[in-house]
Amino acid sequence: MSNIQSANLGYPRIGGNREWKKALEGHWAGKISEEELLAEMKQIRLSHLRTQKEKGIDWIPVNDFTLYDHMLDTAYMFGLIPDRFKTDEGASPLSVYFAMARGNRNASACEMTKWFNTNYHYIVPEWGEADPVLTANRPLEAYREAKSELDMETRPVLVGPYTFVKLSKGDGSSDLEQAVNKVLPLYEQVLHELQAEGVQWLQIDEPVLVTTIPAEDIDLIEQIYARLSAAAPQLKIMLQTYFDSVEFYEKIISLPVHGIGLDFVHGLEGNLAGLKKYGFPEHKVLGAGVINGRGIWRADLQHELGLLEEISKYVSESRIIIQPSCSLLHVPVTVKAETALEPVLQNALAFAEEKLSEVKLLQRAVIEGKDRLNKETEAAVSAVTLLNESPHRSKKDVQARIAQLDLEPSQRISPFSVRRKMQREKWHLPFLPTTTIGSFPQTPEVRKARQLWRKGEWTSERYQQFIQDEIEKWVTIQEELGLDVLVHGEFERTDMVEFFGEKLGGFGFTSNGWVQSYGSRCVKPPIIFGDVQFLKPMTVRETQYAQSLTSKPVKGMLTGPLTILNWSFVREDIPRETVAFQIAFALREEVEALEACGIEMIQVDEPALREGLPLKKDDHEHYLHQAVLAFRLATSTVRDTTQIHTHMCYCEFHDIIDSIRALDADVVSIETSRSHGELVSHFEDHTYDLGIGLGMYDIHSPRVPSVEEMVSMLDRALAVLDPELFWINPDCGLKTRGADETVKSLRNMVEAAKIYRQKYSAALKN
Ligand code: GLN
Ligand code: ZN
Repeated sequence: MSNIQSANLGYPRIGGNREWKKALEGHWAGKISEEELLAEMKQIRLSHLRTQKEKGIDWIPVNDFTLYDHMLDTAYMFGLIPDRFKTDEGASPLSVYFAMARGNRNASACEMTKWFNTNYHYIVPEWGEADPVLTANRPLEAYREAKSELDMETRPVLVGPYTFVKLSKGDGSSDLEQAVNKVLPLYEQVLHELQAEGVQWLQIDEPVLVTTIPAEDIDLIEQIYARLSAAAPQLKIMLQTYFDSVEFYEKIISLPVHGIGLDFVHGLEGNLAGLKKYGFPEHKVLGAGVINGRGIWRADLQHELGLLEEISKYVSESRIIIQPSCSLLHVPVTVKAETALEPVLQNALAFAEEKLSEVKLLQRAVIEGKDRLNKETEAAVSAVTLLNESPHRSKKDVQARIAQLDLEPSQRISPFSVRRKMQREKWHLPFLPTTTIGSFPQTPEVRKARQLWRKGEWTSERYQQFIQDEIEKWVTIQEELGLDVLVHGEFERTDMVEFFGEKLGGFGFTSNGWVQSYGSRCVKPPIIFGDVQFLKPMTVRETQYAQSLTSKPVKGMLTGPLTILNWSFVREDIPRETVAFQIAFALREEVEALEACGIEMIQVDEPALREGLPLKKDDHEHYLHQAVLAFRLATSTVRDTTQIHTHMCYCEFHDIIDSIRALDADVVSIETSRSHGELVSHFEDHTYDLGIGLGMYDIHSPRVPSVEEMVSMLDRALAVLDPELFWINPDCGLKTRGADETVKSLRNMVEAAKIYRQKYSAALKN
């Protein structure tokens, strides 16, 4: 009989009712003490372990749980606490930990950035001058807790040295080898203690190994694992990779560890190719990630069994561990909590709990023989088939359009050089026109009004009247401020993706499908499960109303196809790009509807365009090309005089600037202040010859920027960019800001524009 095993790599932290989030926020608000918080967190942690145990999983992770983020935990454990957090002597260790994540009165928070290509964000470890020191052995503490409280033999998880250093920043981490050598002794100590405790397996996560890494790093990686295995020869190391196929397969599988974990979902092609070409070492265990840890769809278990059979040609079953492709951190807790979804959709979903059941079922099917489990596997297959065959998935007209799609990007009628002249004549905008990015403050009253309406306590008429009043109020404010291009303010929108998802065909919405985005912040992504379809105009009423109140142009405001795609859970039966094109076609109808009603400046936001960038460099070009195709599908049928804007924020732009240009938007507004002018220096040797606005100030801070600092920002920008093409705007939408600071900041921004206009006209006269 086969003794194939099962494992989990990480479990959602937030709890079925987001009790984790509530406890944290309660503590930050001063409502519960540190002791109470820690006690509550322990209960949550143990209950997650119990759930996994009930599922019958053999290897259950510990130390995947955290009070904020696992990278922050690792940095903290290694004593990498930046000096600016050490000034307050009375501060408790926990308050220092939270300060690193969230900032405090004296110190700004550590940087936060995207965890690979997921929507999870981690705290970037910061290396100062001082060397790292071991302040705690977290994996050991977690192991002991599970043992003593629940009598469970668990498998601790730890971020590996290569990944940890690669994702760090600061002086101490700039020389890779040196930095690795500084943390290695700490890792050795951790492993040594785990071995002494009798721990059997340690999962070391090295997701960086699936990204495009330089060949010369392989030596270093070999040294790292030689040292770690020598430090604790009895402790078995499962070297875990995920999110794509491992680079340098042959070298990685030969590292001196006991097991290698590979992603056979997102890295299926590459990992399978490696397996076929180089096989798998005789004495090692393979962690086979065959259940998608990031998607929300039920697995086609017959297919997965076939895949396992294929894998077992190269690795004997007794050396295979069936597992999710990555930590389940990226999916909601359980489908059981959903009550309002259409049955055909609900039945086809699998969140964390259900995924563990799938892992277990696969394990049993291998051990007991497929035939004995036919009923269960067939149920899964039929749920998937039913969804595939449901009318949601095949809207004939949508598919017909997609079938005719040209691979060349669609074109505006005339090139930008021609459009520019026509637009100048049409709009008569001043030199250095001023505008905003779309949203104005979503005050508690705005949110309250929406709640009352959703609960049925307010009629739709009353709610719409409220929205109109807000629009009117802010149109008046924008006119008084002297802004040149106005917006309606987005008061009717909770979230820029959800709002459109609710109005388009093909989307579903869970009631409890939360996933952690960063810290205690959770998001509830919409589910794209059918062909995406335009049903009726989505933004025309509010935009047109705003335009009726002013003689200045009002910019229509849409969310772009890639952002809708990247911030949703997406069906997997058709290529992602096909879904992007479907969304693009639907948005095109909205663009045309706006134009037909006299809204002839239209902004299509793509803040998440870069988020979809694949992990391997070789795949970038394809993705970016598809992104450009989708954006242009949505925006290129308008008249030459209609001005298309786009907006992007909070990512690096310099390496995708050619693609941004290829979007052919008449104006792009880009966040600049967080990257500290990095982008501005990029333009020193690269021109940008379409309309462009660089964010004048960081909207994430309540601080009101002075006129002087914005003038000096303009000095820098206009030294490298064509002033005739330049726009003045904040970094991003203003929905998270208060009304008062918003007005003050914009007043200063308009003032800076005026100063600059005078400066320029004086210069021209001379
Ligand atoms: N138009 C959106 C807003 O102003 C853009 C948001 C974003 O870029 N994330 O809120
Ligand atoms: Zn933005």
